[in-house]
Amino acid sequence: MKKMLLLGDEAVGQAAADAGLGGAFGYPGTPSTEIFEYLEKHASEYGYSAIWSGNEKVAFEEALGMSYVGKRAIVTMKHVGLNVAADPFVCSGVIGAHGGLIAAVADDPGMHSSQDEQDSRYYASFAKVPCYEPATQQQAYDMTREAFKLSEDFETPVLMRLVTRIAHSRAVVACQPPDENNGLGIADDPDKWVILPAHARRLYPAALNRYRRLGEYAENCRWNKIQPAANPADKTKGIIVCGTGHNYIMEAFEILGIAVDVLRLGFHPIPPKLLAKFLEGKSEVMLFEDGYPFVEERINGLAGAGPAVRGRLDGFIGETGELDPDRAIDCVARFLNAAKPQTKQVSVTIPARPPKLCPGCPHIDTFTALNDALETRQPARVFSDIGCYTLGALPPLNAINSCVEMGASVGMAKGAAQGGLKYPVAVLGDGTFEHSGLTSLLGAARENTPMTLIILDNGTTAMTGAQDSLANGAKLHSVVAGLGVDPAHLKKISPLPAKRGENAALIGAELDYAGLSVIIAERECIQIIGKRRTA
Ligand code: SF4
Repeated sequence: MKKMLLLGDEAVGQAAADAGLGGAFGYPGTPSTEIFEYLEKHASEYGYSAIWSGNEKVAFEEALGMSYVGKRAIVTMKHVGLNVAADPFVCSGVIGAHGGLIAAVADDPGMHSSQDEQDSRYYASFAKVPCYEPATQQQAYDMTREAFKLSEDFETPVLMRLVTRIAHSRAVVACQPPDENNGLGIADDPDKWVILPAHARRLYPAALNRYRRLGEYAENCRWNKIQPAANPADKTKGIIVCGTGHNYIMEAFEILGIAVDVLRLGFHPIPPKLLAKFLEGKSEVMLFEDGYPFVEERINGLAGAGPAVRGRLDGFIGETGELDPDRAIDCVARFLNAAKPQTKQVSVTIPARPPKLCPGCPHIDTFTALNDALETRQPARVFSDIGCYTLGALPPLNAINSCVEMGASVGMAKGAAQGGLKYPVAVLGDGTFEHSGLTSLLGAARENTPMTLIILDNGTTAMTGAQDSLANGAKLHSVVAGLGVDPAHLKKISPLPAKRGENAALIGAELDYAGLSVIIAERECIQIIGKRRTA
């Protein structure tokens, strides 16, 4: 048996490679990026395809296409990426899958590098898709191997939900012998794959029935287990844990020298019989799960007049934030009225290191010129997006007024223009523009909306590790022109300190134009230049 030291993300990638993968699809986003990067690195060795997609929706659709032809496919994204892929994801819950299909989605409780704590388990439940929740890197590997088989046995897509601590920490993982690639086996049931209302009315009850059968599977699967305490501190109390929470609770028991019965859940749908068995004789249970109170809400409903439930909803474990060992010790001690161990406070002053744009970053020069141009043009607002350039919101630039989600800048500027704002400006990067700004720009071009769009073309998707964008330079220029932007108001600048005055004048002239202008600020990310030099 091969043993490897792997990140949780890499364990999912290795398992997919070992499972006879046909293809990997994905869009970068922390903490999921390393799944795809690992798969990309080993693609030729294992003989599958791995190409970044334009956005998460496209990635999911490409994976679904591979599943359609009978091959195993994995699609990777971060939790908010699943919002972008929600349409095909939810529809695939109705249609099902053919070749094994896994959506590996990494959530970010605690928002280390995300705009929210969104919990992907709700999407799985909403789409009637089974969901695995690994507690260790080994489980990430084992569950992924199992998930491909489950996907084919039940003809369903599967969600593999990771969280940051699993995704980005390393452990030794024992790998299993590889499976053969499925080979081509094209789906031949048009009634299933053409989701006309007449077909959907038959497919949806079938999906509900499949989800019920998955519930039965959940009753006996190895990831859902009651762990009776050898010497329980209180037989009327129990703790329900999901994913990483299991590790922390076990450690807290050890440190506090106390324990109660535990129900460990690593596969959803929630098994009602197992749950009822666990709750028997319990007057109080604590829920310890990373993310939203997903299981807790369902337990509250199932328990009825049963045990009191402590968790996120009553604030017992805290309404928000990532779980960690300290929180587990504190919660278990309070739940079981146990004394907390004496700890020595160590006073360490860690200097604050707020994130900032790299010295010499081209975005600094674009924002400086934009600020200059806006000095005499008010009221103005700058709608921006997700990328390194979001840091333009911070001092000393203070250059942007909004950042909501991928591609929002273009639509928001257009809406603000329609609402009467005199100088609406949208600023986004080449990668984000291609991810989800194109369609909004098409609408603005059709109406010649009086707004200015600045596309920061730095030749890469810098923030997530410098993945290739779909179009840069002359190709990006042609794409924008092809959307119908007036060539007289499609401009290019070189964001350099020496060109500050010239660039501010050009931006100002376009701000004064009462129609749509697009300015492409073209200069390569300096990190990429540095990497190329040292390669
Ligand atoms: S990585 Fe590149 S784009 Fe991002 S801040 Fe640094 S220089 Fe700018």
